Formats: sequence, C-alpha cells, structure tokens
Amino acid sequence: MAKLPIFREFDTDAGLAACRGAAGNDGGDERSLCMGNTSDKLNLLGVDRASLERWFEELGEKPFRARQVLKWIHQRGVDDFDAMTDLGKALREKLARVATIRGLNLVTDRHSDDGSRKWLFELADGNRIESVYIPEGGRATLCISSQVGCALNCSFCSTARQGFNRNLTTAEIVGQLWEAGRLLAAEGARAVSNVVFMGMGEPLLNLDHVIPAVHLMQDDFAWALSKRRVTISTAGVLPALRRLGELTDVSLALSLHAPDDALRDRLVPLNRRYPLREVLAACRDYVGEGRRRVTIEYVMLDGVNDSDAQARALARVLEKVPSKVNLIPFNPFPDSRYRRSSAARIDRFRDILHRAGIVTITRKTRGDDIDAACGQLAGDFEDRTRRRERLAVAATGGSN
Ligand code: SAH
Repeated sequence: MAKLPIFREFDTDAGLAACRGAAGNDGGDERSLCMGNTSDKLNLLGVDRASLERWFEELGEKPFRARQVLKWIHQRGVDDFDAMTDLGKALREKLARVATIRGLNLVTDRHSDDGSRKWLFELADGNRIESVYIPEGGRATLCISSQVGCALNCSFCSTARQGFNRNLTTAEIVGQLWEAGRLLAAEGARAVSNVVFMGMGEPLLNLDHVIPAVHLMQDDFAWALSKRRVTISTAGVLPALRRLGELTDVSLALSLHAPDDALRDRLVPLNRRYPLREVLAACRDYVGEGRRRVTIEYVMLDGVNDSDAQARALARVLEKVPSKVNLIPFNPFPDSRYRRSSAARIDRFRDILHRAGIVTITRKTRGDDIDAACGQLAGDFEDRTRRRERLAVAATGGSN
C-alpha cells in the first residue's frame, strides 16, 4: 500500500502537551493519522488532491484519476467505486480492493424551530461529535468540529466542561460536510454554502488534519468553496496561527472575548501562554497579505466583559487590526457560572464600537432550543483529561 505523506507536526508547545499526547491515539500509524483508517483500506474521503494524485501514480495509474474520483466522492456523494462510470472496470475493482469511502454514522438529527439542525455523529471508535447546520437567507452554514472535546478549558464554554479525547482525522472533519451533503441532497434541502470551524475543539491544535480538510473544501474538484466561505475560528494558538497563513488562505476568526490580558487570562486560559497583543499582531499579519478582515468573536457575559469602558478598550486594541466584531450573546448551559448580557447592554456595547469605526454585528442565537448554539456542543466521548471527574470532585469539596 502506498504510504502518504502527512504534514509535519507543527511545534505546539509544552503547555499544550495534554492535547498533543492524546492526539496520537487516533488510529495508530502515520497513514491512519492522515486518513482516519481503522482497516487496511485507505479511506479516500480524507485525502486531498495532491496526495491522491501521488497515490494514483504509486498505484501505476494516471494522476488525473484523482480529479475524477474527487468529483464522485465530494460532488456526487458516491461511496461505491462501482458507480464511478468514467473509470474502467479493472480500475474500479482495483480501487475497491485497496481503498474505501467511509463517512460517519448519524446518531441523532435534531431540528430547531428556527430551521437549524444539530447532527450527532458517531466515529469508528465510538466517540461522538456534533455539527450544526444553519440556513439563513441565501446561504447555509455548517459549523463543524475539529476535535473530540477540547483541551483549552475556556471558562464559558460547554465543550470545555466535557474534557478532551483526541484530534479528528481529515476524513472525520470532511466527513461531517460529506454526510451533511448527502442528507440535504436526499431531502432537496439547501446545500451547505459556508463552513465554519466553530464546533467542538480548537482547529489550530489539529493543523495536520485540518489543512488537508481545508484543501478539499476549497478544491474545485471537491467542494469548491471560496476562501470567503471557509472560516477557521481560533482562541489564538500563536505558532499555528503563523503557520496557517503559509499553508492556506481561509478566513480567520479570533475568539477574543476580553480587551485586556487580566480578564482574558481568566476567560481563555490559553491567553496566559499567548497574550492578546501578540495574538492580535499575528492576526494582523495574517490578514495583511491581501486577505480580508479578521472576525473578532466576543461572547457577551453580563457584568464580566460588557461595560462601556471595556467596549472602548476593545476599540483601542483593535485599532490597527483590520477587523469586524461579532458580539455573541452568551448561551447558558447547566452549571455555567455566567449570565447573558441584556439586549440593551449588547446594543450599547455595539454602538460604542460603531462610533469608533468598527463594523459590529450581534450574532443571532440559533438553535438554542436544541442546544446547538455557540458553546453548547458537547458530543459524547470518554474524557482523557478526566476533567469532568475533577470538576465533580471540586464541586463536592473533594469528599469523594
Ligand atoms: N476553539 C475555537 C473554535 C470553537 S468555539 C475558538 O475558540 O474559536 C466557537 C465560538 O463559540 C468561539 O468564539 C467561542 O468562544 C464561542 N462560545 C463558546 N462558548 C460559548 C457560549 N457558552 N456562548 C456563546 N458563545 C460561546
């Protein structure tokens, strides 16, 4: 079997070692890391065009076969080599012997009154992740997960409470889009036009698998989504953020949530490692190369980060960053320590930013009746960080 290259492990630092340690456990060897294989067969769902072309060559076939196969898989949702009628019978049989096209198992499909939907998918190892489909106006956005759980531990996020298990493979990341595509096509519903990496996990702690997934999303022979239609949201993993710009040109969103380090240290603990000004400078560099503005995400927490003074401070720190701000009304979850800012407070905060010349919108809360809103995705998985356990012990004062 031809062995495919994977992206060089980028240098996450020791403070995030918990994440990297568990990340290796997603199936074993280098090839399965790249493809998400559990069998000997290569899962083509997670192979981008450059790798697929090399693979065909190593099979003794013409590289242009990659383009044909990509179209069948990603544009027509086909998972059976026999259906690929522009390939000869011998090649189809050969492919079926060495490769497979395997998606995710849909466990639940919940419909919100506002038209959005939350899909719970089961992975081959039994872990479960969530994706959210949000139709609005002329477009439909799919919010996808990049990890099983999350290691970042942001204090206002429900996924953080669940702990962390492992990175998703490229096939599992693209698989969310692929399953959505097949489901929506079968129903005649609006196809996904935009993808945002705003589900479970921190995409920049899983660059090796996220980058080939982005390539597939942007490839004309696969999903053909323009760079404006694919957004990676990050809490600000600095080395990976710098590297992202070299590897791809997706739209960037930064989860900022505070205008100063003291508060951001509390809300987004990653800030203690990569402080706000350095992260914002990296964002400025990222968008500086002809890319558009970075989207600044700011979750509105009553009495925590929503004062007039904080709005003015936010405008100041964003002064030199080509940006637009998304205010996200906090979405509560069981035992969350925060409350949502009032609508009047959010309006006032927005107006202050407007007056400072910053384009600001308040994100509509979608799917909260099915726990599909920002920060409410939890999935279902074994927590390798034992965070849930530690929280339970803390809650009982350590008595059990
Ligand atoms: N780890 C990445 C992507 C996942 S979070 C990141 O931090 O950007 C996607 C967005 O939802 C982030 O902006 C996050 O801060 C926000 N979010 C998390 N919990 C939330 C909650 N309870 N209410 C509203 N937004 C929340």
